[in-house]
Amino acid sequence: MTAAVAPVLGAAPAAQAKGMRLGVITAIGKDPNPGIKRVKDLGFPSCQLYAGSSAGPELAKLTRAAIERYGIEITALIATGPAPEVYDFYRGPETIGVVPRQYRAARIAVIKKASDFAKMCGIPAVQTHCGFIPENPNDPLYKEAVAAIREVAQYCKQNGQNFRCETGQETPITLVRAIRDAGVDSLGVNLDPANLILYGTDQPIPALKQVGRYVKSVHCKDAKRQEGVGGGWAGVETPLGQGDVNIPLFLRTLNDLGYDGPLTIEREISGEQQKKDIAEAIGLLKRLRSEILG
Ligand code: MG
Repeated sequence: MTAAVAPVLGAAPAAQAKGMRLGVITAIGKDPNPGIKRVKDLGFPSCQLYAGSSAGPELAKLTRAAIERYGIEITALIATGPAPEVYDFYRGPETIGVVPRQYRAARIAVIKKASDFAKMCGIPAVQTHCGFIPENPNDPLYKEAVAAIREVAQYCKQNGQNFRCETGQETPITLVRAIRDAGVDSLGVNLDPANLILYGTDQPIPALKQVGRYVKSVHCKDAKRQEGVGGGWAGVETPLGQGDVNIPLFLRTLNDLGYDGPLTIEREISGEQQKKDIAEAIGLLKRLRSEILG
């Protein structure tokens, strides 16, 4: 169901090119080799990439070489910043994505720069959190956010890329409405089922069905709901398979929808526990993937 995209440099071996191949999120600095090598060392054929907002032609050249050296498929470039971006219920609406007026122009500029970097690297998609898109489509901020999404999606399209909104801060129905109102056919969604629990915006499986054909990529991340929490998170992130997402049903539903994009593991902790959790997530996803795809 993934829309046609530009060819990817350093593509994974043919056997891994389709059918929900596994991936992870990685970050690179001035030398992209350690970040790309990490993906290879963990045993993944693909990844989503953070390259920082200053990434330009010189880093692109080095990144292309690293992609080819390690044979890793970069499925999307993640654009963030500039600061501040406060991921909570109080400051989030004022600081995240293209919704807040005072940061919108700078965010649009970062996304366009990321798109140019992605083009130089042969990366077929750019994704970001668009912010707390208002539920009320008559709210001026809703209309302004839709216009901003349209602008960056068109820019990415001209560069041969999908632009993907990651789920979380807004309800899925509002995200779908915004995508339709933006009206750019290459717009899609990076569906993070745990974010729907963490932000309390929807149930992951019904949300996945609702977003449906717009899902171009997913984060394999899990979370447990917390009761009676109104100000902080509505849930807490857990190792994959230990939260309330229902990862087996999530993968089956993706398959029922005809999804054949990547399964990108996201575990938002660091250190040895992150490595351990990612290793266990690989095992879980491989087992479920073979059960579902045969
Ligand atoms: Mg995510």
